[in-house]
Amino acid sequence: MTAKVLYAEDNEDNVYLLTRRLTRKGFNILVATDGQEAIELACAEQPDLILMDLDLPVVDGWEATRRLKAMAQTQTIPVIALTSHAMTGDREKALAAGCDDYDTKPIDFERLLAKMTVLLPGCKPDER
Ligand code: MN
Repeated sequence: MTAKVLYAEDNEDNVYLLTRRLTRKGFNILVATDGQEAIELACAEQPDLILMDLDLPVVDGWEATRRLKAMAQTQTIPVIALTSHAMTGDREKALAAGCDDYDTKPIDFERLLAKMTVLLPGCKPDER
């Protein structure tokens, strides 16, 4: 089964790089460039996992996650928070907002992939 992953990220370079790498691993990637779009796409597309940049325009990643976790149709979708602010307390804040896991940018691709795999039982990315 190909996992559908929603990637919420406003930085063009990050979108390009991570989308390309995840697509090559066999994931089906949907991109949202702000928090409001992330919420709308999550409701409409029911992704298997969400990668959520916390620093997003319109609605930030913390608030978008809180809203997704408060809605019946999206609350079971796992969310991995991504932030460049690797500050003490951020992990706790992300988990308090309802994120299932947390990782820091710049992305360590293998480490992120390992975290994604844990949250995607039965969705093994294809090896290409
Ligand atoms: Mn950002």
